[in-house]
Amino acid sequence: MNVEAVKKQFPIFNKANPAGNELIYLDNAATTQKPQVVIDAIADYYAGYNSNVGRGSYWPATAATIAFKEARNTVQDFINARTHKECIFTSGTTDAINKVANNYLIPNLTSADSVIVTEMEHHGNFVPWQQACLSSGAKLKVIPLRDNGDLDYEAYEQLLDDSVRMVAVTAISNALGTKNDLKRIVEAARAFNTAVLIDAAQLVTHEKIDVQQLDCDFLVFSGHKLFGPTGIGVLYGKEDLLEGIPPLSYGGGMVKQVTVEETIFADLPEKHEGGTSNIAGVIGLGAAICFVNKLGLTAIHEHTKSLTDYTLVKLGDLDGVRILGLPDERASVISLAVEKVHPHDVASFLSERGIAIRAGHHCTHPLMKRLGVQGTCRVSFGIYNKPEEVDMLIEGLIEVRDFFA
Ligand code: PLP
Repeated sequence: MNVEAVKKQFPIFNKANPAGNELIYLDNAATTQKPQVVIDAIADYYAGYNSNVGRGSYWPATAATIAFKEARNTVQDFINARTHKECIFTSGTTDAINKVANNYLIPNLTSADSVIVTEMEHHGNFVPWQQACLSSGAKLKVIPLRDNGDLDYEAYEQLLDDSVRMVAVTAISNALGTKNDLKRIVEAARAFNTAVLIDAAQLVTHEKIDVQQLDCDFLVFSGHKLFGPTGIGVLYGKEDLLEGIPPLSYGGGMVKQVTVEETIFADLPEKHEGGTSNIAGVIGLGAAICFVNKLGLTAIHEHTKSLTDYTLVKLGDLDGVRILGLPDERASVISLAVEKVHPHDVASFLSERGIAIRAGHHCTHPLMKRLGVQGTCRVSFGIYNKPEEVDMLIEGLIEVRDFFA
C-alpha cells in the first residue's frame, strides 16, 4: 500500500498544526480521520440533492432515497448480513447497544437471569447491561482478564449457565488491543441458547466481518471509527430477533398505518427507524465503506499490524516505558506507561511535537481497576501512519521520560 498516496486523501494532514509541525495522528481507536471522498459524499448530498428520504416524489427525494438504500446495501455486503433488513441505522455503537438492552433484553429480564460482559469492556458495552441488571435484579457476571490482557476463557465457560440471557463482548479491547476469540465465545454461548452481542467498534477497521460465519445475534459498530462521519452507526440483528422486538423508536417513517386505536408497523428495517434518519451520515458511511473496500481490509490490517509489531519491538527496548497488556492476539492498539510520569503529561508533551495520542481511562474504568492504574497512554494506528511516525513517537517518549526523571 502506498501510504503517502493514501494519506494525501485525508485533507486534515495537509494542515499544519498550531505549532507548525505535521500532525502525527495516533488516536485512531478514538476516531479515524476522514478522507476527501467521505467529506465530498456528505457535501454532495447537502449541496446537490438534499431531501428527506422515502416520502417525496420529486427528484432530490428520489436521489436521496436511492443513495440511502444503496448505503444500506453496502453495509449489508460489508458485514455479510443475509438481508438488508438486518441492518438498522443508529447514531453509533453506544446507541445500538442501549437499544438492544432496552428493547430486546429488559422487557423479559428477571431477577433469576444473568448477563455476561467482560472486564475489558468500553463503558458503552458495560453500563447499559449493568443498569439493565440493576433495574431487574438480574446478576451481572464479568469475565475476568488474565495478567497478559487476554480473556480468561475457562472462567467464561464457568460463568455460562441456563440463567444467562445475554453475552455482550467486545471484539477488540479499545484500551489494550486484545483481540478476543469470538468463535469460542459464540460457540460456548450457543450451548446455553444465550444471545450474543458483539461490540465491533474497534473491529470494523481491522478485519472483514462476516456475521453469518460468526453466528452472533447482534453486532454493532460506529461509522466514525471507519473513516465515516460521527452520529451514525449500525445495529446488525438476526432477522427473527429484530422482527420479534417492539420498534426501537416510535414515530414517522416506521408505520404502515395509524388509526386512533392502533398502529401497524412497517416491515424491517424501517420498523426500527422512527423519525428522520441521519441521511448525510448514512450516505457518508456508505462512502467510507466503499473507500475501505477499495483499499482492502487485508491491506489495511497488514499495514497497521506491521506498524504495531514494529512499535512493540521499539517499546520493548525502552527503559522506563512499560507496555500494559501483552495479549496473544492483538489489534493495532497499545497501552503504555512512562515511569513516574502521568499519562496526561506524556500526551501533552507529545502534543507539542505534533504527536496525537490519547491519555486517560479510555472509558474502561473496570479495566483500569484491574490493571491497578488511573489511566494509560494509548497509541492506535490507522492506514495513514508510517514507521517514521513510530520513530518520532519513540523519540518523544525518551524525551518525556528523561525530562521527568
Ligand atoms: N465500544 C468500543 C470497543 C469502543 O472503542 C467505543 C469507542 O471508543 C465504543 C464502544 C463507543 O463508541 P461510540 O462512542 O461511537 O458509540
